[in-house]
Amino acid sequence: MAKFVYDFTEGNRDLKDLLGGKGANLAEMTNLGLPVPPGFTITSEACRHYLAEGSVPEGLEQEIADHLSALESAMGKKLGQADDPLLVSVRSGAKFSMPGMMETVLNIGLNDESVHGLAKQAGGNDRFAWDSYRRLIQMFGKTVQDIDGDLFEHALEELKQDRQDTDLTARELQGLVETYKGIVREQTGKDFPADPGEQLRLAVKAVFDSWNAPRAILYRRQERIPADLGTAVNIVAMVFGNLGDDSGTGVAFTRDPGSGRQGIYGDYLQNAQGEDVVAGIRNTVPLQDLERIDKTSYDELLSIMETLETHYRDLCDIEFTIERGKLWMLQTRVGKRTAAAAFRIAVQLVDQGLITLDEAVTRVSGDQLAQLMFPRFGKDGDREKITKGMNASPGAAVGKAVFTSERAVELAEQGEDVILVRRETNPDDLSGMIAARGVLTSRGGKTSHAAVVARGMGKTCVCGAEELEVSASERRFTAPGGIEVREGEVISIDGSTGEVFLGEVPVVDSAVVEYFEGAEPDDDLVRAVDRIMSHADSVRRLGVRANADNPEDAARARRFGGQGIGLCRTEHMFLGERRQLVEDLVLARSSKEGRQKALDALEPLQKSDFIGIFQAMEGLPVTIRLIDPPLHEFLPDLVALSVKAATGEATDKDRALLAAVKGLHEENPMLGLRGVRLGLVIPGLFAMQVRAIAEAAREVPGARPEIMIPLVAAVQELEAVREEAVKILQEAGVEALVGTMIETPRAALTAGQVAEAAEFFSFGTNDLTQMTWGFSRDDVEAAFFSRYLELGIFGVSPFETLDRDGVGRLVRLAVEEGRATRPGIKLGICGEHGGDPDSVHFCHEAGLDYVSCSPFRIPVARLEAGRAVLTQDDSDTR
Ligand code: ADP
Ligand code: MG
Ligand code: MG
Repeated sequence: MAKFVYDFTEGNRDLKDLLGGKGANLAEMTNLGLPVPPGFTITSEACRHYLAEGSVPEGLEQEIADHLSALESAMGKKLGQADDPLLVSVRSGAKFSMPGMMETVLNIGLNDESVHGLAKQAGGNDRFAWDSYRRLIQMFGKTVQDIDGDLFEHALEELKQDRQDTDLTARELQGLVETYKGIVREQTGKDFPADPGEQLRLAVKAVFDSWNAPRAILYRRQERIPADLGTAVNIVAMVFGNLGDDSGTGVAFTRDPGSGRQGIYGDYLQNAQGEDVVAGIRNTVPLQDLERIDKTSYDELLSIMETLETHYRDLCDIEFTIERGKLWMLQTRVGKRTAAAAFRIAVQLVDQGLITLDEAVTRVSGDQLAQLMFPRFGKDGDREKITKGMNASPGAAVGKAVFTSERAVELAEQGEDVILVRRETNPDDLSGMIAARGVLTSRGGKTSHAAVVARGMGKTCVCGAEELEVSASERRFTAPGGIEVREGEVISIDGSTGEVFLGEVPVVDSAVVEYFEGAEPDDDLVRAVDRIMSHADSVRRLGVRANADNPEDAARARRFGGQGIGLCRTEHMFLGERRQLVEDLVLARSSKEGRQKALDALEPLQKSDFIGIFQAMEGLPVTIRLIDPPLHEFLPDLVALSVKAATGEATDKDRALLAAVKGLHEENPMLGLRGVRLGLVIPGLFAMQVRAIAEAAREVPGARPEIMIPLVAAVQELEAVREEAVKILQEAGVEALVGTMIETPRAALTAGQVAEAAEFFSFGTNDLTQMTWGFSRDDVEAAFFSRYLELGIFGVSPFETLDRDGVGRLVRLAVEEGRATRPGIKLGICGEHGGDPDSVHFCHEAGLDYVSCSPFRIPVARLEAGRAVLTQDDSDTR
């Protein structure tokens, strides 16, 4: 029979799929002998069953009951027992951490009787017992019974007035419990469930259900977490940080998750329970202060942190509680960190001998590297600094201040850059955080919700800027010196320093980009990047080329480590003043002489373009794609021409153009007269381009052109073009490969034939994706992709990450059959996917020779190509 419940002593950290991250790591800590309160985990499999069937799997209730009795005997008390109650927490915990996205209920087991037992057992501490009870009703009401949390919050605020929650007396808290029970009765029509068993059952179901709460769905989509994993549920014996000043609760990191530097980072709050720390209800103290408050616990904590770091060989984050001087570990996981911290920590761990360089490469990601390449604020110039908060998540963000998530989403949809300014964020702000360029809060530390979530998303965040008075209702904030910023006014925030500026601060290149551009590595971050990149280069099998069609991009591509050009488009070479010549070509297309005259005018211009690129690439291969788009794209717009004709302003040429535009009109240009079809229909067009390439190659010693024919669907098309091209090359005495793009499904399906006429394949995965799915990219993304993502038809757009199952299958087939026909055929990819981490891994697995991407993505592709060799679990490139 399936096993749905694991005691903490039965699990371990490798069981994340089943026990979730929290459960697996609680088990791991238990087995390490660390002080973890006893408990057990209900598997994510049980959750999946529940979500699919609407009921818990058979046998689950019994298993829970068995594990609960074992827990009760271990603790020597029974759940909710009147005179000495066992209390438990019911905590969500999925495979991937989703901070604050799902639910947790503490103090399960309290009711009107057991609250007295709890007080008695705590040495007559009534205040503590009633505080715990009111927390239960509040959390249970909000998360299990779906009552608006503000109702409880307001009742608490009203009672507190200007005091802190710790100032409330036992009597007042008892009154609050009555108020809360009234709220529950009013909102649900029923009494708060007094039966501890029922509390537990309902809480478990609520945690299961929270997997599909809107904010959890949104978070998963943002973080590309699969929608079908489900969450595990942890039942943990309660320990109490709210017993008085010798108790408390805190969070800690074993290194600074912002910078990666070593040291002690965390927050601690005396006389508090669980979420108080992250919720920012009272000001926390830095973890260092714990040394003064409770040296024994502090020393023990530091030693546990060291144990965990050595054991996990990585930065860990930790939640702990101290109950009357006794330290308890409540959670650990390998902690989220900023991109800069990831690189620094990876090389620190190498230097400490904890991991190898191979592992260091797997500890960072292409996405993180890309983040380090974003611009930052320059040091010079006038900037009006208005305050400084904590540097919670780096980056430079400029935008209009907005004070609610709704407004952030609204303005972002209109194309505005916005900065979300809040006193503190909560999980409901997720949509606003996603929409904003950056997040600024006036309260909360580096472990606050805003900070944790922003770091996870790679979003710039300054938190805890305490000098700011933020008023969401008045849509403004004030800063020292009488400064006031209203909604819509532009501010700039620096997530690396915590500084906040009025107005727009100009940005400059990142130090990492300067390094790729050739600057000496001169700080520890750049040195870390340098070491990891060198190692990735030394292990990767995939080559990395650039998509570049001008000498500047070609030169940058080389500086960034590109080993050639994988896609040099030629259509850009027909724009600007040269449009004129294309117009001439179109108008003269039916007369041989006229056509040739137009082509002869274009040839020297093309030749000089290619010379520039060959020179920039100094002997590296350059794949030049012959003209691809339909010719009418180069002609004036139909409407403009019609207006001219109607108003009598049209010249003879305009009238001729109008006729041509009408004649060339296509219902579906993506599938029309373009690519190789154009080359076959307009004699001399491709020949002109090939001649220009050959002539240019003759003038640049060492030039290595590769001629690529687009949109081929049948080998016969390619043969016709190839024959002419080879002749021209031979006459010029130039050697060049002639190959094809594989971007129509038919080309992929007949790759064995196509390879007879192609010396290389380059997968054009943009078109291949369009045609495989039957999606018109420009139309579908706006029209219905969000709905498709919502429905889980795909987890991420197939235009962003290569669709392994469909498009990927065509690629694999073409690789296999192409190689069978022509062993040693050169294989690459030149669609947008060439710079996408997951797609790079796919290309490695599929056995391609290289990927080609935009120059700025080259470092990302180099790193991911190295990681592809070193990571076992290729599905997880996050
Ligand atoms: P999240 O996943 O949002 O961090 P948790 O399940 O970790 O939620 O719980 C929220 C808070 O409650 C944490 O601060 C945690 O340390 C605290 N907590 C959870 N279980 C217990 C327990 N058994 N005793 C004391 N505190 C607990
Ligand atoms: Mg937690
Ligand atoms: Mg294409």
